[in-house]
Amino acid sequence: MIDMSDPKYFQRIKAYEDVSPEQWNDPRWQLANAVTDAEGLSKVIALTPKEKADVDRAVKHSKFQVTPYFLSLIDEKNPECPIRMQCVPRLAELEPGLGDLTDPLAEDADMPVPRLVHRYPDRVLFLVSEVCSMYCRFCTRRRHVLSRTTKQLASEHDNAIEYIAKNREIRDVILSGGDALMLPVATLEGIIKRIRAIPHVEIIRVASRFPCVMPMGVTDEVIAMLKKYQPVYFMTHFSHPYEVTPQAKAACEKIADAGMPISNQSVLLRKINSDPAVMKKLLHELLKIRVKPYYIYQCDLAEGIEHFRTSVSKGFEIMEYLRGHTSGLALPTFVIDAPGGGGKIPVMPNYLLTLTDERAVVRNYRGLMSSYTNPRERDSACSTADDIAKNFAPEQPKNTAFYDLVDGKRVILKPQV
Ligand code: SF4
Repeated sequence: MIDMSDPKYFQRIKAYEDVSPEQWNDPRWQLANAVTDAEGLSKVIALTPKEKADVDRAVKHSKFQVTPYFLSLIDEKNPECPIRMQCVPRLAELEPGLGDLTDPLAEDADMPVPRLVHRYPDRVLFLVSEVCSMYCRFCTRRRHVLSRTTKQLASEHDNAIEYIAKNREIRDVILSGGDALMLPVATLEGIIKRIRAIPHVEIIRVASRFPCVMPMGVTDEVIAMLKKYQPVYFMTHFSHPYEVTPQAKAACEKIADAGMPISNQSVLLRKINSDPAVMKKLLHELLKIRVKPYYIYQCDLAEGIEHFRTSVSKGFEIMEYLRGHTSGLALPTFVIDAPGGGGKIPVMPNYLLTLTDERAVVRNYRGLMSSYTNPRERDSACSTADDIAKNFAPEQPKNTAFYDLVDGKRVILKPQV
């Protein structure tokens, strides 16, 4: 782990020895000096001729950019440094993987208009940007983010907002990308202001990796803007405990102090956080900076990222290690984002051993088994349910086949082949 106790710690790196703290802490300086090719990278970290040639080859196929800040977290003594592995391209990116899919989550099929994924009934993912301050080598949206930049941004934003306004079941809008905070503050505000004016939108979420990869980008200006449009939730993405630095802490405190709850989504990455102790440390470090662990994603089947994937059993093992061994507050949900577009499916160890009409037999994290006795009365209908359904319930989901099974309205659901 890099010692960052000295605020000028980055001057230890030869390439940054003349950089002032004012420059370092200016996001414009960070972006202007971001490393975008093998030559630039070799000036900051030592690369062997082969590594340099490999980076050179790999970046011909996808965007490459790393902020000086994120590079400064690399431990050069560790060839498998988790920071380095996330940002330095490897030749493995060019190799086909088992089960690779161009659009692993089939998001294109759920895009009623460009930039808007409407998969779940009451929420949409609005890809407001396709640029990032750093391009994570494991990015699941590589086909959008690492391969292209469109010029239709404004008109596509307009169409997406119009769709949200027309569809009354949408109560939650996630502004993502790319990185939502890469938009100029005025552009982002223009989008948020229009979404906030739509009466049926209750929640706005802003997704950005800035707190982790360029924390100085969480400026007072953007925070003051977001604060005007509450309730706003902030979604971020830390992968490893060594990313939780004093700068990351300061950025997250700014967001939390402005009244925006922060949640974290990590991807399970081989040799980066694929270890129970590393993951637990990350979750604890996040809670200390007021970030709630939300999801751990099984790494998707996107092209060129098999070298980051673990088996599903590794995530399962990590969850078994976490539950009970740490507080519920620290526990994220481990999910597989179903290939082909099924959405997030939670995967967890089984704690329910059996269920009879009278009782449930459960086990705890240490293997202790207990019996829970069901009550005599089973009628659980709430007196306010009809009132809530009449006055507040959103439109019913269009595909209710599964619920028909649950409610006994049908006895079989056959796959469509
Ligand atoms: S910040 Fe998100 S969208 Fe951007 S490259 Fe990383 S994972 Fe992909």
